[in-house]
Amino acid sequence: MVSPPNQLDAGIQPGVLYVVATPIGNLGDLSARAAAVLAGVDLIACEDTRHSRRLLDYLGIHAPLCAYHDHNEASAHPHLLARLDSGDSIALISDAGTPLISDPGYTLVREARARGLTVVPIPGPSALICALSAAGLPSDRFLFLGFAPRTRAPRRRWIEAVAQEPGTLILYDSGQRIQATLEDCADVLGGTRQAVVARELTKRFETFLSGSLDELGARIKAHSEQQLGEFVLLIAGASAAPDAQQAREQARVLDILRAELTTRQAAALTARITGGQRNELYRMALARQSQESDASQGPDADA
Ligand code: SAM
Repeated sequence: MVSPPNQLDAGIQPGVLYVVATPIGNLGDLSARAAAVLAGVDLIACEDTRHSRRLLDYLGIHAPLCAYHDHNEASAHPHLLARLDSGDSIALISDAGTPLISDPGYTLVREARARGLTVVPIPGPSALICALSAAGLPSDRFLFLGFAPRTRAPRRRWIEAVAQEPGTLILYDSGQRIQATLEDCADVLGGTRQAVVARELTKRFETFLSGSLDELGARIKAHSEQQLGEFVLLIAGASAAPDAQQAREQARVLDILRAELTTRQAAALTARITGGQRNELYRMALARQSQESDASQGPDADA
């Protein structure tokens, strides 16, 4: 249960913009300091006033709200900045989690700072940190990618661009797309890459599924209830260059498949079987082809 706001003196200062994290599901995750700030400010800027009113009603807070979302960001700035200039305190919240993290707010914070105004973070839940903290993937280095592009070709290029990243990759996703995202990740990064699907964090149906990208894709496809809700997808980073044994295995599989398939198909399938990078395996296949053709022409071929 959240402490009533009046038990904590938030020390609200005039003319300050507070960036306040709110729960991502479980209302008990709102900090006492966040509640006190929300209770004490002159205005709360939020994405969806009806949605945030429910949270504030739960807290017994009746502060005025104004809408601040993707579609009115720029036009709302003059009003919000003028209120701050005049000494009003404002809390910025989003529908869930930490503002600015795949949510509006960056340009407001930038402009407030540019005018010399004070911006104070009130930390709390964020789905990416929540997922990372319990996924069991390396957490010393990670790359947060936000949402993947909605359509397949740009999404694959987007994944390709981070294929070599050594840290854990973290993506936000929705139930409508998680299946397609897993398939594309498996194709581009190799189906054996380890990953975790974190679903409905802090809520009743919170689920962590771990396995290879291929395994996770198959499990989620087979269990439609696993396609419901909000998702964080975490993917193990690229391991260091493949060791000699893996490279030998990749060459072996590639040679078998090249005899039956096009070079591109052989590279893609080898990537899935051995966990390598499709592009690297394609380059490996071309290199092996050219070695073979040099050898077949014999030592006098250029003479
Ligand atoms: N600002 C938020 C934060 O700090 O995490 C993220 C907002 S973003 C618009 C919403 C996305 O975050 C969802 O589509 C989902 O990918 C992820 N997300 C938010 N809440 C979640 C939850 N309870 N479980 C899993 N993912 C969640």
